Amino acid sequence: MKNFIFKRPKTIRDAVKEYKKTQGSFYFAGGTDLICLMRDEIVKPEKIVDLKNMDELDNRILETENGLRIGALATMSDINNSPLIKKYLPFLADAALYHSSPGIRERATIGGNLCNASPACDMGTPLMVLNAVIITSKGSKERQIPIQKFFKGVKKSALKPGEILKEILIPEYKEVKGIFYKKSRIKMVDLAMVNMTILKKGAEFRVSIGACAPVPLRIKSAERILNRGGDMNDRLFKKIGKVCARNIKPIDDLRGTAEYRREIVTVMVARLLKQLTSGE
Ligand SMILES: Cc1cc2nc3c(=O)[nH]c(=O)nc-3n(C[C@H](O)[C@H](O)[C@H](O)COP(=O)(O)OP(=O)(O)OC[C@H]3O[C@@H](n4cnc5c(N)ncnc54)[C@H](O)[C@@H]3O)c2cc1C
Repeated sequence: MKNFIFKRPKTIRDAVKEYKKTQGSFYFAGGTDLICLMRDEIVKPEKIVDLKNMDELDNRILETENGLRIGALATMSDINNSPLIKKYLPFLADAALYHSSPGIRERATIGGNLCNASPACDMGTPLMVLNAVIITSKGSKERQIPIQKFFKGVKKSALKPGEILKEILIPEYKEVKGIFYKKSRIKMVDLAMVNMTILKKGAEFRVSIGACAPVPLRIKSAERILNRGGDMNDRLFKKIGKVCARNIKPIDDLRGTAEYRREIVTVMVARLLKQLTSGE
């Protein structure tokens, strides 16, 4: 591994300054993505700017007047263990629990998971159905990005050079019911072959599917059919499964074939909808 400069600034303003001063700078949170890329020499940073020594960036999960707020440095363990997340959004706690292995979950942050922008990121689909808002900073001013506009392609996000993901805001976190599902080649410790979250808020359904396109998707055509109302039955759920399978763009890769991914989506969307509506 090539030598690099290491900086640990105390403010976002200084972090952005350090980042901009040197071409080939990378921000560093938990390092669980970045270190692998450095080990494999896919990236060769000139400078690493560590984000973990600032008062302005933290791992706190709080109720605020604008919604539930999750600090960018919250780890998968913080999210899975948070009483607030367990109370209001247990499916988000599940997504954090199904992420990787216990050791990685202690380091991997939600900010890093989103900024890495893998199509399979486990925080993607729960936040997509929650219409989460990403709050970023460059030191002087903040920007709010709706999550549906955050993912731009494989490993591409809406962040501008030097911009830091500061926190995630979930305005609608009360009275929602959801289920997260993940299919991997092996149990735990692997990225998803398919992941998905289905949410129900009153009579409204939202469906998001990950690892089946360059970015996590909301399947609006399926949502429109569900949100027309009417009888919620197995026939409808199977139809929605098929609609979802038609509206993804999976590829063949080492984790599975496109055909198998479509099959999982067809079956699991129907199953999750049945589970979500049972007892109503
Ligand atoms: C063995 C193993 C298993 C894994 N399993 C899973 C899994 O099951 N599910 C899953 O989704 N992922 C998995 N991952 C990938 C990784 O753990 C996650 O994406 C993790 O959440 C990344 O967070 P981090 O804090 O480690 O990010 P880092 O590696 O520190 O950063 C990732 C990228 O985001 C940038 N970045 C980080 N924080 C910020 C910020 N606040 N603002 C701006 N840019 C930022 C960095 O510059 C870097 O480009 C796995 C990784 C490993 C090594």
